[in-house]
Amino acid sequence: AQFARLQPGAGPVRLEITFKTRSGGEVEVEGIVGGRFEDGLLVATLGIFRDVGERRRVEHMKREFLATVSHELRTPLTSMMGSLGLLRSGRVAAHPAKAQELLEIAERNGERLLRLINDLLDLQRLEAGELRFVLTPTSIGAVLTDAQEGIAGMADLLKVRVALEPPPTHLAVLADRDRLNQVLYNLLSNAIKFSPTGETVRLGAELVDGTVEISVADRGPGIPAAFRARLFEKFAQAETAGRVGGSGLGLSISKRLVEGLGGSIRIDSEEGRGTVVTVSFPLLLGR
Ligand code: ADP
Repeated sequence: AQFARLQPGAGPVRLEITFKTRSGGEVEVEGIVGGRFEDGLLVATLGIFRDVGERRRVEHMKREFLATVSHELRTPLTSMMGSLGLLRSGRVAAHPAKAQELLEIAERNGERLLRLINDLLDLQRLEAGELRFVLTPTSIGAVLTDAQEGIAGMADLLKVRVALEPPPTHLAVLADRDRLNQVLYNLLSNAIKFSPTGETVRLGAELVDGTVEISVADRGPGIPAAFRARLFEKFAQAETAGRVGGSGLGLSISKRLVEGLGGSIRIDSEEGRGTVVTVSFPLLLGR
């Protein structure tokens, strides 16, 4: 059909069309078709096509990425600028408690921005295989305590309790303590974010068949079954996540970090009941 549209003397034609494959699939292509005419008759044709499906998919992802990131950057930045503007206006000068509150808002939003930027950089380095782990024997008890302390501010703010269930005996795994902490921070912040006010998030570890299983359990809304397959994708968020904010990067980074450390991660969730995320590592020491 494309060749039939060629006109003598008009030169080759550029086009973007979709090919239908014999098996019923579609291939998006861009290309050029031309022909040679003799006495007004088409005697030879040439068509060159390039599959642009992959490029289109990448462009689509890039647009989505920019939309997510600019939203995630703009929200905290707007709130920060709002607080700073009020402080600078002098209107709260006579109210130190109010001023303190505005400073805390600015700081909290600054931290959120920093976390997002660090997440983006980590993801980039993980994908490029440039992230190096420093593996040392790591005490699980110490890691859990660190994680509980690190998330205390957020837990207080959202009025959720983080209950630490101390591991049964002294357990140690070979891990990068900072990175393991980062994983637990991500998991705990999800559990807290999705917990109703006043609820408790449980953080614990146990030894199961030579494997140390660290678990973070919440009694939030659970993860919709239809979304579970996409949980670990970058920027993936369930529709229900709209109200709590987040970038959809936490779980995909956590999975890559855990696997980079030689462990595995799994999620058990029941809609309306809650979610348990379990991170497993081979036991190094302990009983
Ligand atoms: P973010 O939390 O920044 O959106 P994540 O990758 O950590 O990114 O999580 C992706 C999505 O998975 C969340 O937006 C939410 O829809 C779902 N999710 C993760 N953890 C939980 C949880 N504990 N309870 C309910 N939904 C969760």
